[in-house]
Amino acid sequence: MANERIDKLSRLLDETDGLDVIFVTLPKLIYYFTGFYTEPHERFLALVCAKGQPPFLVVPILDYEKAAGVSTVDSIYAHEDTDNPYQVVKGHLTSKIRCIGIQKDHLSVNRYEALMEATGAQQAVDVEPKLNQMRVIKSEPEIAAIRRAVACIEEVFHTAIGFVKPGVTEIDIVAEMEYRMKRLGADGPSFDTMVLSGEKTGMPHGVPGAKKIREGELVLFDAGVFVDGYASDLTRTFAVGDVSARTKEIYETVLQANRKMIDAVRPGATFGSLDDAARQVIESKGDGPYFITRAGHGFGLEIHEYPSIHGNNQDVMSAGMVFTAEPGIYIPGLGGVRIEDNVLVTPTGAEVLTTFPKEWMVIGG
Ligand code: MN
Ligand code: MN
Repeated sequence: MANERIDKLSRLLDETDGLDVIFVTLPKLIYYFTGFYTEPHERFLALVCAKGQPPFLVVPILDYEKAAGVSTVDSIYAHEDTDNPYQVVKGHLTSKIRCIGIQKDHLSVNRYEALMEATGAQQAVDVEPKLNQMRVIKSEPEIAAIRRAVACIEEVFHTAIGFVKPGVTEIDIVAEMEYRMKRLGADGPSFDTMVLSGEKTGMPHGVPGAKKIREGELVLFDAGVFVDGYASDLTRTFAVGDVSARTKEIYETVLQANRKMIDAVRPGATFGSLDDAARQVIESKGDGPYFITRAGHGFGLEIHEYPSIHGNNQDVMSAGMVFTAEPGIYIPGLGGVRIEDNVLVTPTGAEVLTTFPKEWMVIGG
């Protein structure tokens, strides 16, 4: 599996005119290619794939043993904190380098300059779009891991709705959810667990706090986990007791938008058409100005991956892609609703991986 991926990386190198070496520097992508994962923080970590020689890893010495144990790439060179890691790279390149391939979304300017200087290259090209394409179609084992991550977060949601009561704080619920994630065997949350209530549900990126949940409010859960390296990303919005008629109306609109978007999923259709399908529903009810986010995003090893599902994305879907469907309405001062599912593109349409009920639900009674 991982060797096939390395072969693809070598082919990318061979097929790109003038390119002499590729530096893969995003830790999750190094995991994708080698089976070895570490978070090196400020230390230098790279998978180096150069023409005319086998690929090699450059790792901090404290990670050497772990890398040697699991990596499918056999050549591993360690650097100590007193070493210049770019000189370690240079020392293991066997031929002259003119053009390097880098991840421009990920590599810092300092690292870019250091790699240019150490390799003597004159030019750098961005290989990030090609690397994104390589991992956008998920394999069966990857989909199986995503299914486990979905099952885990859904169990967490089922438990967590039992904790919602007037007087309980948002952060209390977050703590319960993250405890359950770990107990259920998740690697950890796939992003900061979000529990928002009342007006705060109107902020797509609100931050949970000491605010107490009250009767008559909405409560929004947006959370996911990593299981075996792969993510899930689920949002549900609940009513605590009786809420206003307007709030319920927003909910039904978002639910309809979510369903229309998922109905539009099929190989060959554009990502833009998915955003359009959701947006048409919300605009038809006059709430278009409150749908301020894109309709979804790819995920897998990372919580946000290619594709970004917005109206201008003319790229097309293929079977094996996995992404979120998460239309929402966010009204400042009133509140918001988001319903987020995880969707797999199949040869004939969509399989919705998330099964947590999404019909109007009143909790906290
Ligand atoms: Mn989410
Ligand atoms: Mn999401």
